[in-house]
Amino acid sequence: MNQQKLRFLVVTAHPHDFTHSAATCGIHAARGDQVTVVSIGTGLYTHNERLHGELMKPPGERDRTVTRQRPDHYAKTKAEELRKACALFGIEDVRILHAEEPFRVARSPKTVEDIRDVILELRPHVMITQSPYLTGHHRLLSGALDDHAEAAYASLEARTLAATARYGSDVPPHRVAAAYFPGVYFEKDQYDFYVDVTDWFERRVQAEMAFRSQGHTDDFARRRIAVTLGSIGWYAGVMYAEAFVREKPEVLPGIIVADNSLERAEEPPSQHIRRISGAEEPWK
Ligand SMILES: [Zn+2]
Repeated sequence: MNQQKLRFLVVTAHPHDFTHSAATCGIHAARGDQVTVVSIGTGLYTHNERLHGELMKPPGERDRTVTRQRPDHYAKTKAEELRKACALFGIEDVRILHAEEPFRVARSPKTVEDIRDVILELRPHVMITQSPYLTGHHRLLSGALDDHAEAAYASLEARTLAATARYGSDVPPHRVAAAYFPGVYFEKDQYDFYVDVTDWFERRVQAEMAFRSQGHTDDFARRRIAVTLGSIGWYAGVMYAEAFVREKPEVLPGIIVADNSLERAEEPPSQHIRRISGAEEPWK
């Protein structure tokens, strides 16, 4: 891996969206890279499953502690959940921009400036942000009405503005070297690369459990992470993986083959079976 310490900026639409690249962020934080997480919204209108459930009941049967909960209390809970999840991966710098939700750039243009300010303050090398692409048949209609795509437009626009010199400003412009989108927003054949996060499985489960407000019970969290990271990992040839899509092809000094690929080319089949399943040595 590159020896230079990197600065990462992760921009999400809502608090829980951080989890989709959490283990990769943890790997970088552990190697001394600086990681900052910015959630554009508080997640006020996303996955408030309890409120949804109560409002489906006849008025007389509703739990008023849920239906009367103040929105700022719910937002505060989600902020705490995000901080708790980030702490599992060694990330302390967590910021919430409190943009109006549902988030639409056209209604909250100031958010683009807010993200630009963060970029100019932190001067990140890497940005991990929501995908601006509308992939898959279910997503064709959702883009214009979706917080995640709008968060992508806002962050990529802010990235462009941060790299643009302004009259009357003493702050030097800053170019983000590379942007990546979590693979969760793409089909498998669109992934650019995988990160082996097998060693981070338990922390990904705990991060999922942290979002109690969204109904993430222990069983739900463990099952979700086993199925989703396990599925990606299975195709990557490891137990658990996070996938990413690059914004654009990177310029490399030559062909780079990761150590993992070189090691795997040399390993016997029995080791592959062990690695992908965690099972004991076959044919013993
Ligand atoms: Zn979200």
